Amino acid sequence: MTNPQFATVAVLGAGTMGAGIAQVCAQAGSRVVLQDITEEFTKKGLSRIQDFLQKGVEKGKVTEARRNEVLALVSTTVDRAAASRAADLVIEAVPEKLELKNGLFRELAGVVRPDCVLASNTSSLSLAKVFAGVSKPERCIGMHFFNPVPLMALLELVRTDSTSAATIDAVTAYSKQLGKEPIVVKDSPGFASSRLGVCLGLEAIRMVEAGVASAEDIDKAMVLGYGHPMGPLKLTDVVGLDVRLAIADYLTKELDHPGFKAPELMRRMVAEGKLGKKSGQGFYRW
Ligand code: NAD
Repeated sequence: MTNPQFATVAVLGAGTMGAGIAQVCAQAGSRVVLQDITEEFTKKGLSRIQDFLQKGVEKGKVTEARRNEVLALVSTTVDRAAASRAADLVIEAVPEKLELKNGLFRELAGVVRPDCVLASNTSSLSLAKVFAGVSKPERCIGMHFFNPVPLMALLELVRTDSTSAATIDAVTAYSKQLGKEPIVVKDSPGFASSRLGVCLGLEAIRMVEAGVASAEDIDKAMVLGYGHPMGPLKLTDVVGLDVRLAIADYLTKELDHPGFKAPELMRRMVAEGKLGKKSGQGFYRW
């Protein structure tokens, strides 16, 4: 891409999501600065990008020239202010802690250019709280990417009451340049994706608990009957039962809806360390 909507992007946090976000931004032709708190973490993030592109080369999906072109657009730093000062867009992908994200944006508001768009990749937190006290809130927006970022088509854009139409338009245009399909959602608990996805997963667990059918058969019902690419219980295993339990508890508190109440079976499995794929055992053995 020769003319990206945002020429220079700073990505804060070089973990699972930050590395993927930096990669897709560079693939769209933006100059990207990937920042983390230590050089060890920035190196790890950069090697994630290198490995992903290298696999593409080995599979014949990416040319060596294209790999080099993308990598040449990515630099790393541990200096947050330096990364953000010249940016047209800052995307934050640091851990899911409200105080951390809010503190970071408050600090950045005094560093970045006045027209710089500020985006958070939070998967559940209220964007109004993430951006509380940040000057020029019209330039603030949620950009909720999905894992693995280079492969997942959806980009959920979350607007607060203050986000301007110009910000939504610019980020929507950029989302398409990233090769993503954007949807625009109001800042409300669980946005569109987690609210519906987690609700389905929790009901599936309740059905296992009540002996309605086996986990395999419940998943088969959704895969073969409804065309879901993966059943809700296998997906819960992939995401992690602990991660989903935390979201369920958060949504129960925020939405006051019995559909989000975590089943006892889920709490028991988490207490026993049956967290899904990452622990080797969940509704399936991995
Ligand atoms: P991660 O733990 O893999 O990465 C977070 C990175 O942030 C780490 O490298 C850490 O060193 C770095 N970091 C910590 N404090 C920092 C600071 N002050 N400044 C800069 N970097 C800092 O986490 P992740 O899975 O990439 O998640 C990041 C965000 O993305 C979270 O808000 C999460 O909810 C959201 N998210 C995650 C997923 C997923 O599937 N993992 C999906 C969508 C959204």
